Amino acid sequence: MSDRRTRFETLAVHGGEPRPGRGGSVVFPIYQGTVFEADTGGEMPYIRLGTNPSQRHLHGRLAALEGAEAAVATASGMAAITAALHSALGAGDHLIAAGAFYGGTQQFLAEHAERLGWTFDLVDPGDAESWRKVVRPDTKAFLTETITNPDIRVGDLAGAAGFAREHGLTSIIDNTLATPVVFQPHTIGFDLVCHSATKALNGHSDLSAGAVTGSRARIERVASVLNAYGAALDPHGAFLLSRGLKTLALRVRQQNANAMAVAEYLAAHERIAQVSYPGLASHPDHDRAAAWFDGYGSVLSFRPVGGAEAAEVLVKSLRLPYAASSLGGVESLVTRPAAGGHPPLGLPGPSGADIRFSAGIEGAADLVADFAQALGD
Ligand SMILES: *Cc1c(COP(=O)(O)O)cnc(C)c1O
Repeated sequence: MSDRRTRFETLAVHGGEPRPGRGGSVVFPIYQGTVFEADTGGEMPYIRLGTNPSQRHLHGRLAALEGAEAAVATASGMAAITAALHSALGAGDHLIAAGAFYGGTQQFLAEHAERLGWTFDLVDPGDAESWRKVVRPDTKAFLTETITNPDIRVGDLAGAAGFAREHGLTSIIDNTLATPVVFQPHTIGFDLVCHSATKALNGHSDLSAGAVTGSRARIERVASVLNAYGAALDPHGAFLLSRGLKTLALRVRQQNANAMAVAEYLAAHERIAQVSYPGLASHPDHDRAAAWFDGYGSVLSFRPVGGAEAAEVLVKSLRLPYAASSLGGVESLVTRPAAGGHPPLGLPGPSGADIRFSAGIEGAADLVADFAQALGD
């Protein structure tokens, strides 16, 4: 484990960086231009195609961090997920979707799958039997999330990657909540890894971006979708994301430690009815997370005694976390996911009593003290 730690910290700083840097610069410059003359290879970089030098530089960094052959950066996390799905599915194809899913992904499938001629079945990511029941000759892809959002579960990931390979499906995983610091899905055989880089990869709550990593051939297909839809990340965004990635390991390890400290505090508190965090031995997927992950992520959900009313009071009483519904940034956030409405796919949703906490990089003692004052201790 300690070897892997050393490697990731080093990778975050040096992965994909040209040595020596351009013009001797330690920081890769921002190529803001949209137009380029053909280089000696005859290729003409163009901004919408993601082939501007700043975009290419970021692609190399992202591929290095996920341990992939290739990567593309996108204008948002949803652009990454939809491009990955489009690269694997055509009209008449079937998708197996395993998990609770980020709301935007649910909304995309609910509003657009039928129009595109895709059919899908929703299955339990922890129950391989449920996948076997729905797989058919026209099934082409398997979609899941490393840590599901908002219910914070960890499915049978190795089983899913193996199942997809066995049936010739493209396996796609949304690794946003875990980050490659915690888990690198390609190491257990996932074909395409997607990120909302708006969250932890950039980490500073000031950029919309996404990423897809995979083999060169698969990323070429994803890029061809992105190029057609025009969803590349711009060079200044690429610079910001590449800069954010430098501190990814440090930020995520601090966030993981903070989430664990808050989870342990809440789990022992008499006014808290339930805490869902894979780092707790009481979590139903703890053994899986312990076997595969290096740390347990920055996000936990919990439910106070006293239901929705108690949850509302608690969220209002916290002083450090912002009451906002994102995750993975340097500042802690707290939100009640049920306030976002019903899940579009009719999946069992969060209850009004559920609170989601995304740990930032503040001091753990300050976060715990804030929860203590909010709970009236
Ligand atoms: C936020 C998020 C997305 C969507 O990302 P955007 O950058 O907002 O498009 C996708 N998946 C997960 C798990 C997310 O948290």
